[in-house]
Amino acid sequence: MSSPIWMITTSPAIGGALGLVEGDVEVTVLVVGDQATVDALTEAGVTALVHVPTSDTVPPEALAAQVGQLVAEASPSVVVAPARGPERALLAAAATALDAPVLPAVTSLRVDEYTVSLVRGLYGGLVAATETYSGPIAVLVDGGVAPAPTGTAVPVRQVAPSPAGLTIVSTSASQQASVDLGSATRVVAVGRGLKAREDVELIEKLAAAAGAQVGCSRPLAEGQDWFAKDQYVGISGQHIAPDLYLAIGISGQLQHMAGVRGATTIVAINADEKAPVFTECDYGLVGDLYDIVPALTAALTEVG
Ligand SMILES: Cc1cc2nc3c(=O)[nH]c(=O)nc-3n(C[C@H](O)[C@H](O)[C@H](O)COP(=O)(O)OP(=O)(O)OC[C@H]3O[C@@H](n4cnc5c(N)ncnc54)[C@H](O)[C@@H]3O)c2cc1C
Repeated sequence: MSSPIWMITTSPAIGGALGLVEGDVEVTVLVVGDQATVDALTEAGVTALVHVPTSDTVPPEALAAQVGQLVAEASPSVVVAPARGPERALLAAAATALDAPVLPAVTSLRVDEYTVSLVRGLYGGLVAATETYSGPIAVLVDGGVAPAPTGTAVPVRQVAPSPAGLTIVSTSASQQASVDLGSATRVVAVGRGLKAREDVELIEKLAAAAGAQVGCSRPLAEGQDWFAKDQYVGISGQHIAPDLYLAIGISGQLQHMAGVRGATTIVAINADEKAPVFTECDYGLVGDLYDIVPALTAALTEVG
């Protein structure tokens, strides 16, 4: 009998996703990727692996239709994928093939004989909804890191790829510097309160004085392009959990604050005392960032 859960991945980083599955239930992992990913997952404690290889010229997305076909043939109760890059397209293909709804932000999953119960975040994580489904579903989860090896290898079924006409013709690295906000203990983030691109320097100086990484709200990374896309925080950007999050000239809309629910202390600087961010922060400074930021930088530099 086929596993009731199929998990689609392009990388070994599925330890978190596996951890969300409650109880002793069979999980088949469908790897759409290279042999190294398969090797890293053979001792992941799952039931079986299915491997559809990619190559330097064949991206995972080119195999979406085949993924849909494989999942439909297995007809699992749930198909799971980490909410990142190519996996989103692959899960969409699997969901279409199963005629299943796609449910994002799932944080736990239980499969019984006739039903699937899950918990998922709604409204940017403000609400944890518990739901039960009786038909097939597709869910997006946090992939986490690679699982620790169990010491027992499972069988791997190799499937020859049959890609759609999609080819990688060239690749180039992003021109903008990337930051690792996920592991930062302090983040200084700025929003549309910043008036000009050259003023980014003000924020960078403050971040340097505070030993922090620089983040931003979405409009500054998408649209204005003052920051790299992996620097924006929020429901569709980075979800971070620093000790300190300093939100400067950020109004604090739900979609932004959803990305900092895990922060220990949130400090806000905003010119508008009615800005929503002040209902979400631990400390708030009402005032012009162009006055407050240089003063704060000077004070932090002085104390070293
Ligand atoms: C589906 C969807 C997903 C989204 N995902 C995200 C996401 O992941 N991340 C995200 O950030 N947004 C996201 N958004 C956009 C989000 O709704 C807000 O529009 C965005 O966060 C606003 O950015 P902001 O706070 O920088 O700008 P604004 O809302 O324009 O706020 C600017 C703030 O700066 C203050 N200000 C102005 N001048 C000064 C000054 N001199 N000194 C101090 N304060 C000043 C103002 O009082 C204001 O509060 C999403 C929206 C949608 C619809």
